[in-house]
Amino acid sequence: MADCIFCRIARGDIDAAEVYRDDEIVAFRDINPQAPVHMLVIPVAHLTGIAAADDDDIALLGKLLKVARDLAAEQGLDKRGYRLVINQGLEAGQSVDHIHVHLLGGRPMRWPPG
Ligand code: AMP
Repeated sequence: MADCIFCRIARGDIDAAEVYRDDEIVAFRDINPQAPVHMLVIPVAHLTGIAAADDDDIALLGKLLKVARDLAAEQGLDKRGYRLVINQGLEAGQSVDHIHVHLLGGRPMRWPPG
């Protein structure tokens, strides 16, 4: 999608603080971090959100989680703990309509989330 900000990051049209890239997945630091570690893991292919995923996307969804898990371990968070979040739709506060997994860590987290 030409005007999708995360598609533009995935294409390399605009800069982001990238921490991972392969043919299918890109990860970068959130521009407005909510924790000492706050990264976003996205597919290169445009998919508006988890609600739009179908059975053909199951492997891709698994890979998003695997990359997030591996980045958490790289950041030394695997022993401390961390949170993976996918916001879907208005009431969850999704602001970018290109599916992304938030990796948050480096501070204690409360539950339930706000
Ligand atoms: P969500 O509210 O779940 O849709 O999350 C979107 C996230 O994208 C927010 O945490 C924003 O801070 C982040 N974000 C938006 N634009 C950029 C950008 N250009 N680079 C990095 N993170 C961004």
